[in-house]
Amino acid sequence: MFDQLRVFHRPTTVATALRLFEAEHQIGGRGRFVAGGTDLVVQSDRTLRYLVDLSRLPLRYVKKRGGGWAVGATSTMSDLERSPALQRFADGILAEAAGTAGSRQIRNMGTAGGNLANASPACDLAPPLLVLDASVVIAGKGARRTVPLERFFRGVHRTALDGGLLVEIVVPALPKAPGGHAAWSFQKLGRLQSDIAVVNAAAGIVLDAGGRCAWARIALGAVAPAPLRARRAEAVLVGHAFDRAAIEAAAGRAAREAKPVSDVRASAEYRREMSRVLVARALTECLDRVGRTR
Ligand SMILES: Cc1cc2nc3c(=O)[nH]c(=O)nc-3n(C[C@H](O)[C@H](O)[C@H](O)COP(=O)(O)OP(=O)(O)OC[C@H]3O[C@@H](n4cnc5c(N)ncnc54)[C@H](O)[C@@H]3O)c2cc1C
Repeated sequence: MFDQLRVFHRPTTVATALRLFEAEHQIGGRGRFVAGGTDLVVQSDRTLRYLVDLSRLPLRYVKKRGGGWAVGATSTMSDLERSPALQRFADGILAEAAGTAGSRQIRNMGTAGGNLANASPACDLAPPLLVLDASVVIAGKGARRTVPLERFFRGVHRTALDGGLLVEIVVPALPKAPGGHAAWSFQKLGRLQSDIAVVNAAAGIVLDAGGRCAWARIALGAVAPAPLRARRAEAVLVGHAFDRAAIEAAAGRAAREAKPVSDVRASAEYRREMSRVLVARALTECLDRVGRTR
């Protein structure tokens, strides 16, 4: 499938990777970075003339940064799934989402950076990272840029990378939760859980001392050209008692914010209805989890 490739580089520094990518671009033809190759190889783009492999770059780490985490772009989905720190952070939603992405073999090869850079509307890391207010660090021409994940996705396979290299995912400290009344949830619907999502969703909530919702995040995937924050649904929750009625209202609102299409996996109508169901499940799991701390 890469029989038209002219050259395959394996740099060991970010600076060299960027320089080689730019130099090949000047020579001519289309090229790509490649990490695990689990998206790129399947896409079988025979117009590619060069590849710059990222697997030798020093970008495979999960490090504590402030109260949050810095995840290197070439950390594999298995690395995230098996990270004891991420299993404990935010009810483990990031580790859980990584653990649902394909088979063990796919998760051993596929990277966190590749999952986001490929910008599939269904990518499983996007909803949990969106509710965690994550950003990505992009190295390219000039200084490194930090872009909030919500602004990183521009559409199907379209991002703010602009030829740059995604080097790190930054997950900030969790919002302050007086009394620890915060909870998080990740939900995924696929033919099997390890299949590409028909719909995926994540939620995070913080309650005040009176049981009112002080802060809320809801995100959905596979129901629009890019993963999305359901901001109107979040607004339904904030300032009100966090109960089953509020959950139903927010889930209904989130379904109306979705802009699904029909494809081989599901119809638009089914996706919209499943958006409602998955957001309701995510918020109900948050309610159960926060109930255990109150
Ligand atoms: C059978 C199968 C099942 C799958 N199931 C799931 C699933 O359930 N959920 C899910 O979310 N995904 C799934 N995937 C998709 C894929 O495994 C993931 O998206 C994976 O995380 C991609 O990472 P990668 O390192 O393999 O990316 P690659 O294939 O190496 O790259 C993907 C794209 O991103 C670019 N890229 C990669 N890294 C960077 C970087 N650091 N900076 C800039 N650009 C970069 C490449 O140029 C390419 O365009 C599945 C794939 C297969 C084949």
